[in-house]
Amino acid sequence: MRRRAEVAVVGAGAAGLVAARELLREGHAVAVFEKSARAGGTWAYDPRADADPLGRDPRAPGAVHGSLYASLRTNLPRQLMGFSGFPLAGRVFAGDPRTFPGHREVLAFLDAFAAEAGVAARVRLRAEVLRARPLGRGQGERWVVAWRGEDGEVAEEVFDAVVVCSGHCSVPLVPKIRGIDRWPGKQMHSHNYRVPEPFRGQTVVVVGLGASGIDIAREISHVAKEVHIAARYSGDRLGKIELYRNAWMHGEIECVQDDGQVRFAEGSSVAADTIIYCTGYRYHFPFLDLDELTVDDNRVGPLYKHVFPPKYAPNLSFIGLPYKSIVFQSLELESKWVAAALSGRVTLPSEEDMMTAVREHYRRMEEAGRPKRHTHTLWPEWVEYLDWLADQVGEPHLEAWRSEMYEETLRCIWSLDESYRDRWEGENIATGSPP
Ligand code: FAD
Repeated sequence: MRRRAEVAVVGAGAAGLVAARELLREGHAVAVFEKSARAGGTWAYDPRADADPLGRDPRAPGAVHGSLYASLRTNLPRQLMGFSGFPLAGRVFAGDPRTFPGHREVLAFLDAFAAEAGVAARVRLRAEVLRARPLGRGQGERWVVAWRGEDGEVAEEVFDAVVVCSGHCSVPLVPKIRGIDRWPGKQMHSHNYRVPEPFRGQTVVVVGLGASGIDIAREISHVAKEVHIAARYSGDRLGKIELYRNAWMHGEIECVQDDGQVRFAEGSSVAADTIIYCTGYRYHFPFLDLDELTVDDNRVGPLYKHVFPPKYAPNLSFIGLPYKSIVFQSLELESKWVAAALSGRVTLPSEEDMMTAVREHYRRMEEAGRPKRHTHTLWPEWVEYLDWLADQVGEPHLEAWRSEMYEETLRCIWSLDESYRDRWEGENIATGSPP
């Protein structure tokens, strides 16, 4: 017989919404806590920025959750951003039919998804989870959730399980750079970048060659005097970027100097006004204080397959931690797995066996020379991970067209050619296509 659990979901972004749908489908009772005034998480564009442009203190009053810039269009095509039974492809939700739509389209899609899945009614808005802790001294069989409502009152409720969907693109990861304390220029993290105008006429160094770094460098290059990208994996592309009027590619920043110079690994240097770090984010769960779960050098651990802490499984779980994959698909499969593990339809390995698997994962990372901070990157084994999850819940493996489309998208992003988003349909860039 299936167990019906009372589940608290923390966060109503894409992860919390799809988790709630899967939990409801499995017959569980669900309450979704969302600290902001609306569902949608990252996709609810917030024009505000943190008072500290580096966003160092996530507990600072008024700390901003969102990291989207005003012009942001998706970096994945809409075919890769829907949920099963509720695609983003082939439909228009906010008047933006483009294959790579702007953020408003995705937000409207999530609103429609939440309404159709019957999840919207389960979301408690302006309800911030302050603490989730196991009841008594057990293994987390039941959980006490303390949350603050709109009126400022703090209430406690007991649930069978807590599913953490609080997102991980809010708290900046800022690299330590030699000499930075005496460098006279301005610094900020992409978390607080919204529009290019403040950089008009400036010489800007953009650190990082991920999707945001590339987008921001390109956007700023239209108004800035010069843009210099500093990237660990710049490959053989050092020097002037031909596609841009005024942008150069460099190796990593070697050091910065008190005369304003920024020196790069390959030996060149530039006098810069601003450094923008597009260097990713760190995991942060201020509402969890558990001896058996830590965040160390951006490794959340121990976690079995990025989802279950062995000691507390299945009653504590995390959705959406891994990155470098088809995010929405990964969120949905993880959610199905959690829902099925809570109902007893799927049995998890013993705590000991899960710990063995976690240690084995760490050992293989070490052997391959992968740093700890990359624990939750799925690249290059992202298909294996999705297929493994699919096996747990009896879903089919990833269709070939999806993985081909994803890989092709990455190639397009790294090409630095901003026109790929609009050329996509015309030139049939994707090697695969949905049936
Ligand atoms: P979030 O969307 O961050 O949602 C978390 C929610 O939890 C928020 O609403 C927050 O308010 C709430 N919350 C946090 N703490 C608490 C608490 N204590 N109590 C109550 N509520 C809480 N993905 C793609 O698939 N395609 C893209 O093109 C793409 N582009 C991106 C561009 C940028 C700049 C960024 C930052 C991310 C992008 N992503 C993209 C990844 C994106 O993060 C995911 O698509 C998805 O939005 C993640 O959803 P989430 O629910 O895990 O987190």
